[in-house]
Amino acid sequence: MEVHVNQIEKRSWVEVDLSQIKSNYLLYKKALKRDVSIMAVIKADAYGHGDVQVARVLSDLGCNLFAVSNIDEAVGLREAGIKGEILILGYSSPYYAKTLYDLDLTQALVSEEYAEQLANTGFRIKCQFAVDTGMNRIGIDGDNLQECERIIRAFVKRLNINGLFTHLCVADSLKSTDRDFTLSQLNKFHSLAEKLSDLKLPYIHCCNSAAGIQYLDESTFFDKIGSIVRLGIVLYGMKPSDEIQIPNGIRPALQWKSVISMVKRVHAGETIGYGRTYRVEKDSIIATVATGYADGLSRTLSNRGFVLINGHKAPIVGNICMDQTLVDVTDIPNVKTGMHAIILGTSGDYSFLADDMATSLGTIGYEVLCDISKRVQRFYISSHFFCEL
Ligand SMILES: *Cc1c(COP(=O)(O)O)cnc(C)c1O
Repeated sequence: MEVHVNQIEKRSWVEVDLSQIKSNYLLYKKALKRDVSIMAVIKADAYGHGDVQVARVLSDLGCNLFAVSNIDEAVGLREAGIKGEILILGYSSPYYAKTLYDLDLTQALVSEEYAEQLANTGFRIKCQFAVDTGMNRIGIDGDNLQECERIIRAFVKRLNINGLFTHLCVADSLKSTDRDFTLSQLNKFHSLAEKLSDLKLPYIHCCNSAAGIQYLDESTFFDKIGSIVRLGIVLYGMKPSDEIQIPNGIRPALQWKSVISMVKRVHAGETIGYGRTYRVEKDSIIATVATGYADGLSRTLSNRGFVLINGHKAPIVGNICMDQTLVDVTDIPNVKTGMHAIILGTSGDYSFLADDMATSLGTIGYEVLCDISKRVQRFYISSHFFCEL
């Protein structure tokens, strides 16, 4: 059964401004000190924005490099007709070797052992070696360059090795020890890339959003390793960390909204919700918002967070429920059933963005975006002509 999107009632939904994503892409690319290609990191459903939609608008801008986390995401993109290189950054079972090969996907090689398993399938799959230069997550050991070189050369016949990448773990920090660590990672990676320069691997990359801003410069050093930036969080308009300045004009592309299902009076002394964790001190007006923790609104925000209604802050009172949240609207005029509550976004003079929610939760904006659950409907808008540079 096919349901047309206009027939779905808006209950808890996200509005994604695709023109803002295009602008973010172009503004980022323009602000860099080098002319780079962008590999758009659209893992985790494009950080909750919708991977197919994001890939389509970026393809229109000429982007033909994409990165995802797993084979399911990659297959989804191919099924939707997305062309270009799709790099799977994490492990895929060798059982899916034929799928990788048939769909022309590129698989990250997380270890020598894994490369051996994939090669043994007999499919000459497109692959890129992950090199561990200090994060200790995946990759062959970048501390032993000779060994890295030996491993990579051993597989060039059996697999279609077309690249090499590493991941930086503190590129978003300006602390001098972190800068030193990042430079040591870049140096290891650079040395390995040099040793392998005769292979002329087309895809050699090490920069995430933060590193593109902080570390790319004009030096020849980057001819070897700086031609591609894997752009994630900044594409979605957010800072990699508080310390990093992002180029002007880059803004969040997503707003999360919900509807008020009921407004009522609650008398002084009564309590609100499960566990009776909130007691109203004076007669109050309480609104029910049709979003709960099953939508990704963390229950940790119970009695701490707020939503925006008509340009006012409405504090969350009581425990957030699975599907509903109660807010105090006593001080907000004319709140009525059917009105919108902004969970993430802007209303009047107030903005409450994923990074703000992350601060309240003691986490990072990345997690807030990824936690917005699947049942939250995604709608796509183009609020303005994206800035063509
Ligand atoms: C997620 C990820 C990125 C993107 O990082 P951002 O900080 O969002 O730009 C880049 N590279 C790898 C390997 C990743 O896992």
